[in-house]
Amino acid sequence: MFRSQYYEAMKLLAAEKRLKYSISTASLGLKRIREVYKAEGVAIDLWETSYRIRAMYMCDGGDPSVLVNRNLPTEPRLFAMVHELKHHYCDQTALKNGQIRCGDYNANEVIEKAAEVFAAEFIYPAQEFLDCASSIGLEHAKVTPEDVVEFKRVCGAPVSYKFLQKRLEWYGFIERGEFAKIQF
Ligand SMILES: [Zn+2]
Repeated sequence: MFRSQYYEAMKLLAAEKRLKYSISTASLGLKRIREVYKAEGVAIDLWETSYRIRAMYMCDGGDPSVLVNRNLPTEPRLFAMVHELKHHYCDQTALKNGQIRCGDYNANEVIEKAAEVFAAEFIYPAQEFLDCASSIGLEHAKVTPEDVVEFKRVCGAPVSYKFLQKRLEWYGFIERGEFAKIQF
């Protein structure tokens, strides 16, 4: 399968799971995700670990669990937990020693990128993002940092500034890395 097909499949899977669990963007938070984990039979353990590791998916003898870095702030923690759900749904055959450790260092692996695609679409569907961008009159190549702050306030999605920047880059509203040095 081509990468683009794999990523599209992840977006469809995210939409399917949102529907299954009646997820709406504005009401999505850690509480709601804990309920999804419970329904999926996946245990959650908070974990004191280095910043390099965000979370880890484990499945030993059909007993799935996720370790989450307890030092992550709410939005990155939510993202990491949804990212791990993708491993639960799709990657049980790819486990090494019964686990997948997830951090920035392995973001280039295809199964990791696909988990990022899944999480982004599950938490804030691209279409909702584009609708919000158009509703506040965002124009390509004319976006200021103040617009990003306004966007975050208006959109109501449980996402970080880093998330928004990636989306804005992806859809060509800003150049790649344009706001990388700005402290929001
Ligand atoms: Zn991962």
